[in-house]
Amino acid sequence: MTGVVLSVVVPMFNEEAVVPALVARLRPVLDGLAVAYEVVAVDDGSGDRTAALLFEQGRTWPELRLLRLRRNSGHQAALTAGLHRARGDWVVSIDADLQDPPEAIAPMLAAARERGLDVVYGVRSDRSSDSLFKRSTAGAYYRLMRRLIGGDVPAQAGDFRLLSREVVEVLKVLPERTPVYRLLVPSLGFASGSVSYVREKRAAGETKYPLRKMAGLAWDSAADFSAAPLRLATWLGALAFLACLGLMVFGLVVWANGTVIPGWTSLFLAVLLLAAVQLICLGLLGEYVARIYRTVQNRPAFHIGFDSLAPDPGPVDIP
Ligand code: UDP
Ligand code: MG
Repeated sequence: MTGVVLSVVVPMFNEEAVVPALVARLRPVLDGLAVAYEVVAVDDGSGDRTAALLFEQGRTWPELRLLRLRRNSGHQAALTAGLHRARGDWVVSIDADLQDPPEAIAPMLAAARERGLDVVYGVRSDRSSDSLFKRSTAGAYYRLMRRLIGGDVPAQAGDFRLLSREVVEVLKVLPERTPVYRLLVPSLGFASGSVSYVREKRAAGETKYPLRKMAGLAWDSAADFSAAPLRLATWLGALAFLACLGLMVFGLVVWANGTVIPGWTSLFLAVLLLAAVQLICLGLLGEYVARIYRTVQNRPAFHIGFDSLAPDPGPVDIP
């Protein structure tokens, strides 16, 4: 046993602007907990001085441990790396930009210990500091996920959460390549609770979640947890069949009255529409096949290039 009680995993991508503020706020909170802790700062292949700054801070803060991924692998992959290397009996994941207040870690840990919980979610009770666009896309995301997956997805619970060692060990052996933890964790069914907090503004720097990455997360979420998109083909097929039946009857009635329907336009549009629908369904199928292919290939989702705990971690290649 290492004696570490609490590990705090912080994924960071190009966060040089928030490192000083993060350290200044996180350290007193963790020192005040009076438990043995470690901070696992995961540098997700940043192109800026994030790793260098963290390494510097580590000289005067022995509990700060730096993991560096060889390339930018994405938020969820960085979290995975952190979970795999964390040593604590409890593991908290938190964003680097101080949108999740570190002060909430103490009530999370207390709730878990006192009530015997394995998972404690940080639930955003107030997101008014997020932009209208972020709030409405997030709202749509949680509604869609509840619909696809069922009612047990805690709304407004992002990646600020506390997990027990038991949950972490379960997560570590799952074969998922791009796990979406905010859905995966509730699906395991461990005893859970929540602590609500007010979402703050990003302390410094810009969001690392452009629309492209948000859409990627939404698609990973839907495809990993639901086969409903595949059923779209069945429904569209049934719809086209019904439309065809109706048109057949209509055509026969017109023909019985001694005329035929002229129609280059209608014919052409029908052919084109069906071709489009078929291609979309084929594309959806392809997405699922690609996921199977990636799972079978079983390549690691990230490579850890540097771990300050390793016997010989080597130099931090500072850009
Ligand atoms: N992040 C990461 N890799 C990425 C993108 C983001 O490790 O490819 C980290 C980022 O540094 C931050 C957290 O994920 O600690 C959440 O990102 P951000 O705060 O930019 O997202 P937002 O709050 O805008 O949704
Ligand atoms: Mg943020």
